[in-house]
Amino acid sequence: MASYDIAIIGGGPGGYVAALRAAQLNLSVALFERDRVGGLCLNWGCIPSKALLRNADVVNLVRDASKWGIGVSNPTFDLGSAVDRSRKVVDQLVGGVETLLKDAGVETIHGAASLAAGARGSHSVVCEGKSYEAKHVIIATGASTRALPGAPVDGKVVLTSHEALLVRTPPKRAVVIGAGPVGVEFAHLWASYGSQVTIVELLETLVPLEDPEMGRLLKRSFEGRRMTCLVKTRLESVEVHGRIATVTVSGDEGTRSIEAEAVLVAVGFVPHTQSLNLEASGVATDRGFIVIDDHMQTSVAGIYAIGDVTGKLMLAHVAMEQGVIAVEHIAGQTVPVLDYVQMPRATFCQPQVGSVGYTEQGAKAAGYRVKTGRFPLTALGKAIAVGETEGFVKVVADEPTGQVLGIHLIGHDINDLLGEATMIALLEATTVEVGFAVHAHPTLTEAIKEAALATDGAAIHIARRKSLKTAPQQGVPTR
Ligand code: FAD
Repeated sequence: MASYDIAIIGGGPGGYVAALRAAQLNLSVALFERDRVGGLCLNWGCIPSKALLRNADVVNLVRDASKWGIGVSNPTFDLGSAVDRSRKVVDQLVGGVETLLKDAGVETIHGAASLAAGARGSHSVVCEGKSYEAKHVIIATGASTRALPGAPVDGKVVLTSHEALLVRTPPKRAVVIGAGPVGVEFAHLWASYGSQVTIVELLETLVPLEDPEMGRLLKRSFEGRRMTCLVKTRLESVEVHGRIATVTVSGDEGTRSIEAEAVLVAVGFVPHTQSLNLEASGVATDRGFIVIDDHMQTSVAGIYAIGDVTGKLMLAHVAMEQGVIAVEHIAGQTVPVLDYVQMPRATFCQPQVGSVGYTEQGAKAAGYRVKTGRFPLTALGKAIAVGETEGFVKVVADEPTGQVLGIHLIGHDINDLLGEATMIALLEATTVEVGFAVHAHPTLTEAIKEAALATDGAAIHIARRKSLKTAPQQGVPTR
């Protein structure tokens, strides 16, 4: 029977990155994948959606060409070509990961795998009727779209993101249920191609896990583009007749029905744990997600879990980092503890929404006394120069020490700032230190510096009343 140091079940960003790190550390690895390596992210998530969103950017530029003094007569916008391009991008990246795995000496085994009783001191994985022994197992099987009672997915009119990524003709009318990142990205995409989009969200704002100020501005921006955003609204039912769905929702203003050619269900994810034989193996779960400790160890010694199947923070880069930590722990290295609050979060509609760290409310709930600073892009040279002034940066800081607790961004292509925001969080920088750092001019990054300075009323490019200028606030830190 083949025997390995590590058997990894699932070849998404969590699993394939874990496999590559293990190979770097000279551990023998078998990677079991029932579909294509790259997982949800490369095949049906992050990558194809971002490729389509790039097309949406181009569509919007061409549509607004006259604003730039460019005449374009009768442009056509072919969503089918965008889908073809996105699938090519997927194939290129999946091919790249296959090559990386092969070159690293990782044995990729195709088929659905599950846990089985292993010999003493090792574990057993069964795949397509064959057994494999491994000293350690990493479960990286991911998750898929959660079904919503009342909205049965038929793959033709009522869709998950999987089918939506293949829609070649923009629906005349679309209803998006759920205003998380997946929902608002598709709303932006289809609206860019001319669909009449209605978003239905149960909570109070769009992108409801973000700072509410971001969701409120995103809603205003979407409404300015003729999208309808129904917040605090519950889905009651979806009925499909032929190619038309009737979506019934209820909210503060009562019950109403909306007709649409496409309904996207984007209300969260359920973990892939059903066929893994977890119970018999003794691996503990909580509401379906595998329970892990700081080293990604499950309740069974030698069995680890990473990525969406752990439900910690369902993002590709988090899965990747968890994979590295699990492998380094197996290899006996001292590994840092992953602080999930400090993970960057990005939504790629336009305006983009990004964040790191605590929201203002979250920081208060965690016991901090906070101060905040905001800097509007209307006051930023670079934003004015490129004609994209919608949005702002908000910094949340600890009042007594000035340590930055959270950075929140909304604006055109503003997620490019997440790298700096992440470093500020990692280095536990204070607002004074961020204000110290000289930022290249003109760049969007200046908005972070200004928002940090604004927490002490010291932003330079915000007009202030004279009385305030001559009477500086007490306690403004000096350099
Ligand atoms: P997955 O990527 O789901 O990989 C799990 C793999 O395990 C799959 O390949 C599956 O086939 C395999 N598998 C499952 N069970 C078995 C088994 N029994 N045997 C063998 N193989 C098995 N995240 C971001 O960070 N940024 C984004 O921009 C972003 N955009 C997204 C857009 C969309 C439309 C969606 C749906 C998601 C997006 N995500 C994004 C989320 C991201 O895709 C996931 O967080 C990420 O893929 C999780 O990685 P993972 O390795 O845990 O699982």
